[in-house]
Amino acid sequence: MKFDTVIVGASIAGYNVAKQLRASNYPGTIALIDQESFLPYDRKELSKNWLVDRNQPNPPYFQNRTYFNKQKITPFLNTTVTFINPTNKYLQTADGRDIYYEELVLATGSQLRKLNIENSDADGIFYLRNFEDALAIKKWIKKVKQVAIVGGGFIGLELAASLNSMGIKVTVISSSPHPLAKTLGNDASNYFVNMHQARGVEFVLGQVAQKFLVDADNRVNAVETNQGEVVPSEMVIVGIGVVLNVSIEIEGLNVDHGIIVNEFGETALPHIYAAGDVAIWPYRGQMIHIEHWENAYHQGRSVAKNIVENKSHAFSVMPYFWTDQYDETFEYLGYTRDWADIVVRGDVKSGKFTLAYLDHDDIAQGILFANKSESRKDIQALLNLNKALDRDKFMDKNKKLK
Ligand code: NAP
Repeated sequence: MKFDTVIVGASIAGYNVAKQLRASNYPGTIALIDQESFLPYDRKELSKNWLVDRNQPNPPYFQNRTYFNKQKITPFLNTTVTFINPTNKYLQTADGRDIYYEELVLATGSQLRKLNIENSDADGIFYLRNFEDALAIKKWIKKVKQVAIVGGGFIGLELAASLNSMGIKVTVISSSPHPLAKTLGNDASNYFVNMHQARGVEFVLGQVAQKFLVDADNRVNAVETNQGEVVPSEMVIVGIGVVLNVSIEIEGLNVDHGIIVNEFGETALPHIYAAGDVAIWPYRGQMIHIEHWENAYHQGRSVAKNIVENKSHAFSVMPYFWTDQYDETFEYLGYTRDWADIVVRGDVKSGKFTLAYLDHDDIAQGILFANKSESRKDIQALLNLNKALDRDKFMDKNKKLK
C-alpha cells in the first residue's frame, strides 16, 4: 500500500497537515494514521466545555467522516506504527501492514507521565489525555462530590475550575509551592492560587502524592502526601505532565527527548517532517518545544506548505497559548523559561494585568496578559521590537502600550 503523504498522529498537528495539504491544492494521496479509534477531535475541549456539558457524549470532532471522504484523506484508526524504514520509505504497523510513503510527517505528540505509587491501580484514579479518559472521568464525576487533583499544571488547574463550577469540592496537590511558576513566575502563580481559593478550591502545596488510600473494594478514598497529609477524595485525577512520543523505531532520526527539526519542519532524514508537541524547533537562537494547541496547529499547516512547495515556509510563528479558567482568560505570547526579571503593568490583584518576562538585556521574551488587559496584536508588536523595554513606560497604565 502506498500514499504520497503519510501522517502519523491525527491530533491537532496531524489533522492540520492533512487539512492544509488539501487547502493548498495538494494533488497526492494522503493517509492519516492514529492509535485512537476516533476521527480527529479537539483535545482542548476535554478539560473544559465538553466536560461540563452533560449533553455531550461524543468527541468534539473537527470534521465528520464525509469530510475525509470528500477530501480524499484516508484515516487509519486503531493503528499503531512500530517501525519506519527511511531508506526504502515505508512504515510498519502493529497489525502487520507495510505502508509506503513519498513524504512522511511525524505528529505523534506526547503521552502522560504516570504516577507509580502504592494503590495506583485502585478504582477512581484517572488521567486526562484522550477522549476515552475524558468520557471515563465524565461518568465517574456524576457519582462524586469530592475530587483530589494531583499536579498543579495546566490540566490540573483547568480541571479544578471545571469541577468547581460543577459544584464538586476540589483539592489540588502540587509538588511545587507555586503552581505554574516555572512557566509564569510567582506573581502569576499566586494570582492563580488565589483565584481558585476564592471559589473554594483547596491547595496542598509543595507536597507530592505518596500513596492512595482505598476501601475494602479497592476504591480510592484519599490521597496521602509525602508529609503525611491525608486528602479525602472519592476520585483522583492525575495531571503531572507528559513525555514526548518518540517510541517509533527509526534509524538516523535526530532525537533529544523530542524530534529535532529545522525551520521547515524537516527532520535529519530526507522526506520526513515532524510537527506539534513532539517537535523541537529553532526559535530565536534556541531549540524549544511547546506543548500547546496553537503551536501544533500552525506547525502542522507550515509543514503541509513545505510538502507542497519544498522549503517555501520557514516557521516563524511566535509561540502563544491561553488558558481559560472560570470566566477568566490568560494569554501568553513568546517564550522564556529563564527570565532575569518580571515587570508588571496594572494591578495583579485586580485580574487585569500584564507581565513582561525580561532577559538580561531587558528585552521582553515573553508576555502574559490576563483578562484582555491588552490586545494580542499590541503584545506581539512589542515582542517583535526585540529591544530593551522602557520599563517606566510599560508600567504606566495611563500610557497606551501601542
Ligand atoms: P504540565 O502543565 O506540564 O504540569 C505538570 C505539573 O505536574 C507541574 O506543575 C509539575 O510540577 C507537577 N508534577 C510533576 N510531577 C509531579 C508529582 N510526582 N506529583 C505532583 N505533581 C507533579 O502538564 P499537565 O497539566 O499534566 O498537562 C499535560 C499537557 O497538556 C502539557 O503539555 C500541557 O502544556 C498541556 N495542556 C495545555 C493546556 C493549555 O494550553 N491551556 C491545557 C491543558 C493541558 P513542577 O512544576 O513542580 O514540576
